[in-house]
Amino acid sequence: FGRHIAIYGKGGIGKSTTTSNISAALAEAGYKVIQIGCDPKSDSTNTLRGNAYLPTVLDSMRSGKKVHLADISAKGYGGVLCIESGGPVPGVGCAGRGINAAVSLLQELKLFAEYKPDYVLYDVLGDVVCGGFAVPIRDGITDRAYVVSSSDFMAVYAANNLFKAISKYAPAGGARLGGIIGNGLSAGYSKMLLDDFTNRTGTKTVEYIPRSLVVSQSELYGKTVIEANPHDKHADIYRRLARYIAQNDDLTIPAPLSVSELRDWAKIWGDRIFDYETGIVAESANI
Ligand code: ADP
Ligand code: SF4
Ligand code: MG
Repeated sequence: FGRHIAIYGKGGIGKSTTTSNISAALAEAGYKVIQIGCDPKSDSTNTLRGNAYLPTVLDSMRSGKKVHLADISAKGYGGVLCIESGGPVPGVGCAGRGINAAVSLLQELKLFAEYKPDYVLYDVLGDVVCGGFAVPIRDGITDRAYVVSSSDFMAVYAANNLFKAISKYAPAGGARLGGIIGNGLSAGYSKMLLDDFTNRTGTKTVEYIPRSLVVSQSELYGKTVIEANPHDKHADIYRRLARYIAQNDDLTIPAPLSVSELRDWAKIWGDRIFDYETGIVAESANI
């Protein structure tokens, strides 16, 4: 029921911000949307709900009582149904297995069959993409994944890890890649660096979201940009991205770089001289 889409990326890169704005834009366009936070941080849907408290699936399961959908979900902006998988008790247990347990419970509760969403978005922490965090792309839960990345090396490294997981599981029926969502790109060369990475891995960037104070300011209200600043041009960027993701069927199996290839590639960029104003790049030997 519905199209299930996973959005990965390293911690702090802007997954939840981007996912929530996509959900809000789809809801605004009249679609029925569910957003499931799969990050032990459990703050995926905060800006859809004015930062209101929402018990996580794992916390509710740990209570030992039978869990009902009403206990672990809340309607946010535009009617988006918000759910947080939650995380282990700090210092104990496995966050990845928690995601698995949470998704299984939602299936047991027949959430998708009964709620009949148009879109389900999974906001998944993807620094390492261990077996547990790969669950949404591995077990036929989603057929497509996007990754949020800036031009920072660690963000690209996390994207490359997701590519590795996809190229491993896709041939056996796992999700394929929809593309990279560039976020927080400020310097001119950021775009070039990301484009070079996508060229080398047979992937593409589907949107470039600049850094914007409108995002930070909306977050302080506990709102998405779509809700707090609907007429800002940044809201239109999220609307365009949401439209793209809603319709795109061009899915690929990426060709990830090995760790040493990634390091060598980074060094090529490290050797370049940037003009921070124009972003124009000049080749240079180490000087
Ligand atoms: P993640 O879910 O990947 O951990 P978040 O979505 O919580 O990351 O974003 C981390 C911080 O970065 C938040 O404070 C958020 O407001 C900010 N942020 C994300 N994207 C942008 C952007 N395009 N412009 C400005 N700030 C952003
Ligand atoms: Fe769980 Fe992943 Fe940690 Fe393994 S690496 S214990 S699956 S969170
Ligand atoms: Mg998050």
